[in-house]
Amino acid sequence: MQHFPIFLNLSNRRVVVSGGGDAALAKLRLILKSDAIVHVFAENPAPDIADWADQGKLTLARGPLQPGDISGASLFYAAAEDAGEDARTAKLARSEGALVNVVDNLDASDFITPAIVDRDPVTIAIGTEGAAPVLARAIKSDLEDRLPASLGPLARIGKMFRKMASTLPAGLARRNFWTDYYFNTGPRAWDVGGELQVTRKLDVLLDQHLRQKSQPGHVDFVGAGPGDPELLTLKARRALDRADIVIHDRLIAPGILELARREATLIDVGKQGFGPSTAQAHINALIVKHARDGARVVRLKSGDATVFGRLDEEIDACDGADVAWQIVPGITAASAAVAGIGQSLTRRGRNSAVRLLTGHDVQGFADHDWATLARPGEVAAVYMGRKSARFFQGRLLMHGADRSTPVTVVENASRPDQKVIATTLARLPADLTAAALTGPVLTLFGLSPRVAHAHLSALQKEHA
Ligand code: SAH
Repeated sequence: MQHFPIFLNLSNRRVVVSGGGDAALAKLRLILKSDAIVHVFAENPAPDIADWADQGKLTLARGPLQPGDISGASLFYAAAEDAGEDARTAKLARSEGALVNVVDNLDASDFITPAIVDRDPVTIAIGTEGAAPVLARAIKSDLEDRLPASLGPLARIGKMFRKMASTLPAGLARRNFWTDYYFNTGPRAWDVGGELQVTRKLDVLLDQHLRQKSQPGHVDFVGAGPGDPELLTLKARRALDRADIVIHDRLIAPGILELARREATLIDVGKQGFGPSTAQAHINALIVKHARDGARVVRLKSGDATVFGRLDEEIDACDGADVAWQIVPGITAASAAVAGIGQSLTRRGRNSAVRLLTGHDVQGFADHDWATLARPGEVAAVYMGRKSARFFQGRLLMHGADRSTPVTVVENASRPDQKVIATTLARLPADLTAAALTGPVLTLFGLSPRVAHAHLSALQKEHA
């Protein structure tokens, strides 16, 4: 990030604009939304600028900018649309201590003016560092459509009510009150009778919330999918959006954590491989404690929470403490991995069953029904199978599996850095070692990529 966004308090500060044409007009329309003291220097100002001067909205000097004119100003816009003149005034402005924007000249500017969605006091600034103005405009128009005009007045009225609302206990109770106001009671009251009705309803609403007993907590066990935020379910998104506490594993991608409600507390309980059982007991205790405090807890697990997620232990802990819970399913790594190689997990005439195996269990390398797995056409998705690859190969060969059985290893399935290694049972350990993978790895036994590897990488690049 080269440009750091801030909101500048322009009350009683000077903003100076050099120029009176279209570029100056466009900037002035934005600047005049603020409380700044605005000075314009232009030899031929557009009629709008002259009108604004007549109305006292700005001070207009009909002539070029001179040394001393910018002294004490916070911001300066060089908008004369004449490269020589803009360079001259920009230099002057810098020497007099103002931050400079040269219109349509990113390199010569200290700051850029973002695209703005104005629901004062709610202001959304959109910037692309000059990379894609088209994108900024598209985002702006999308937000303009989505944010009702009532948002501004509701926020303004809400701000005046903050002190009253502080009679509610800090934390969850207060948040619930504001959520109710902004997303439910407030907009409805606005539609019925505008500001007056909103103010009336706020009193009633506060009364209701003051009388309400604190709400019981709740736990959502949410599958976060394999990493691509677009592979979250709508239910998972909604749960994240409402969460007070998010307790997550190490494998959860940052892009997904960003979707949690801004006020939510994120707790990383990541374990490398299989941690000691006290770690699990600690997680159980953490979930129960927060739910009992009345929080909406999201226990976020990679993939699907019900697959190798030690979910049952956490559910037992909730049941033991009388905490309500529900499971929100997610896309498991096996689904993402087969999608990544253009295959299906089951196929008529090839395999009518598929196994989800773990390479490890608490005792070490996990034992399975090797004899069945060694039969032709079997398919298995192996989780946590990197270190156990040689053991896995040895057991299967011992039980008569074909050495040329296809095996595909997918690292970081669904993520931009997804990597696919197509190999065979005979070559699996050697190829895995050679690839030196560091991300999470899903091994698909009995499957090879449907499309040629080169084509696949091109596809991955396209998606990245
Ligand atoms: N509940 C998860 C699995 C948890 S066990 C699920 O349903 O996917 C952790 C293992 O899942 C990792 O060791 C790896 O084998 C697999 N895994 C999780 N995310 C993965 C990804 N994006 N790509 C490949 N494997 C992944």
